[in-house]
Amino acid sequence: MSTSSINGWCLTSLSPSQSSLQKATLRPSIFASLNSSPVSSSSIPTLIRNQPVFAAPAPIINPTWREEMGKNSYEEAIEALKKLLNEKGELKPAAAAKVEQITAELQTASSDTKSFNPVERIKEGYIHFKKEKYDKSPGLYSELARGQSPKFMVFACSDSRVCPSHVLDFQPGEAFVVRNVANMVPPYDKVKYSGIGSAVEYAVLHLKVENIVVIGHSACGGIKGLMTFPFDGKYSTDFIEEWVSIGLPAKSKVLAEHGGADLPELCTHCEKEAVNVSLGNLLTYPFVREGLVKKTLALKGGYYDFITGSFELWGLEFGLSPPLSVKDVATILHWKL
Ligand SMILES: [Zn+2]
Repeated sequence: MSTSSINGWCLTSLSPSQSSLQKATLRPSIFASLNSSPVSSSSIPTLIRNQPVFAAPAPIINPTWREEMGKNSYEEAIEALKKLLNEKGELKPAAAAKVEQITAELQTASSDTKSFNPVERIKEGYIHFKKEKYDKSPGLYSELARGQSPKFMVFACSDSRVCPSHVLDFQPGEAFVVRNVANMVPPYDKVKYSGIGSAVEYAVLHLKVENIVVIGHSACGGIKGLMTFPFDGKYSTDFIEEWVSIGLPAKSKVLAEHGGADLPELCTHCEKEAVNVSLGNLLTYPFVREGLVKKTLALKGGYYDFITGSFELWGLEFGLSPPLSVKDVATILHWKL
């Protein structure tokens, strides 16, 4: 991907609305209404202004090669142990047992592969998508071949149960999505968080999304970690504690306000409060602040509870006066259908 193609992708933009610089406020704003009708074709993005950047890659999966790779690692381990067996006669019983164990694991892995073939699953999934969606929406996909113009940037958790495209029925081209552990938006930091920063920059400055939505969810493992890790300076994980520590202000707030509650309740509070910390962190990005001032951009918080089947959405007209709180802003919309 060349710089020139990135620039070429972003030449046209939405006209910025009037830049009325308003007094900083912290108040809820209603921005959506419940509409139970199914998504109509009119909701499909029609504004095309970009050129594709990525060419379709050549197939990279060779099933035979992949299977051999996995098998070889077992075979190498067995060979190494056999060698040890020959060299150290006294270790024979232990080494023989180990060889037996690894061989059994290899056989189990083979039978597992038979019952679940990932390549077949991917192939079947793609065939279904191609037949039922791609081939049935030639207009949409020919537009998307020319570029994307999503209205939303969405932060969601990597959790396999909370895919925002499923939960909110986003169609291709509607949402520019970042997923990570506990749906965190870190503060602006060119060194530590260039991955997230580049996504926000690209979405806001080049795709010119009109909304950034941060969506938390029930039973979030990342938030449970945030609530239970001691953060005493001695990390036991390579990455997770450092990452979820972005949400420490939420943890502190929840403990201060609900200190007597049990862990599940604390986690539920924190799952929502961490969304507000992320919304606050978005304010540290200068181009986000500029979009808010110009009213070309809005920030929203969401919470998907897959246990009760409900979705909450709240919005803020941000000012510069944190702290933010779920309790302060209240839930504006709560949908349980
Ligand atoms: Zn999660």
